Amino acid sequence: MSETILVCGHKNPDNDSICSAVAAANMHNIIAERERDRYSEEDFPVYKAVRLGPLPPESAWVLAQQGIEPPELIERIEPGQKIVLVDHNEPQQAVDGIEEADIVEVVDHHRVAGLTTANPVKMVFMTWGCTATILTKMYEAYRVPITQHMATIMLSAILTDTVITKSPTTTDTDREVIQQLAHIAMVDATEFGLKLFKQRGGEETMDIAKLVCADSKEFPVAGKTVLIAQRETVDLPCVMAREDEMRSYMRDLVEEKGYEFVLLLVTDIMAEGSQFIVEGNPEIVEKTFGITCQQGGTWMPGVLSRKKQVAAPLLQA
Ligand code: MG
Ligand code: MG
Ligand code: MG
Repeated sequence: MSETILVCGHKNPDNDSICSAVAAANMHNIIAERERDRYSEEDFPVYKAVRLGPLPPESAWVLAQQGIEPPELIERIEPGQKIVLVDHNEPQQAVDGIEEADIVEVVDHHRVAGLTTANPVKMVFMTWGCTATILTKMYEAYRVPITQHMATIMLSAILTDTVITKSPTTTDTDREVIQQLAHIAMVDATEFGLKLFKQRGGEETMDIAKLVCADSKEFPVAGKTVLIAQRETVDLPCVMAREDEMRSYMRDLVEEKGYEFVLLLVTDIMAEGSQFIVEGNPEIVEKTFGITCQQGGTWMPGVLSRKKQVAAPLLQA
């Protein structure tokens, strides 16, 4: 017998939420094994990576390439379940049942909002571009060797979260860690990054819900709930060709979920900017960004980061 501790990223998982869950679980299992004599049989911890939604295509690709089992899909957790949160901390973005769970650790690079815990908790927060950057530093701090497999998946997370270092969320630490991990992974970071983004094809025929919402997060803004979705693409015209369909789906979401608005950023990682598409009440978006929301969307040059360039100003509205 042993005690299972879940390691989980956010809802609508992105590559960081998947790979950081795997890398954190691996790190903790190695540390636990090293300290085995501290535990009894029953409370020896076994960390298990889980996920809250479909595997992003780049995660499926990199995990298969490295021969790593994808995290198991779960929907909710039992009261008292021990859990480590990676890449998020807002209860709205966490697994259902989180209110009664026992959060033992949080490793994250987002704003802090709404989290309460039953017990003392280890929290590792840094304002770096990716959770996997923080985890790389934790591997070092705990003197856990970084294998080629772990280096490859953590590198993939940093490259997708920082949009191959083009995002303004990228810090010098991310750049250093990218070089360090690329060396262990034996890949060229930029080439590997482009390969990751190219896994996201099929946008012309992709299910509309997936096209709009695969990477979406709810936020409370001015006492209301809003949804900010992001589609990072290497083929902007292909996504924009489906504008009417996307808008109609977004209007349905506003209706069904009662969102104040749904904002979709269609981010062109090559042109380094985003097309803003809004349904619902556009007032807060228009005021915050000084734009007029219109058919065809509004091109916002240089906007690549939902967190830093979109959510943060909206949350201050
Ligand atoms: Mg994330
Ligand atoms: Mg992240
Ligand atoms: Mg992202």
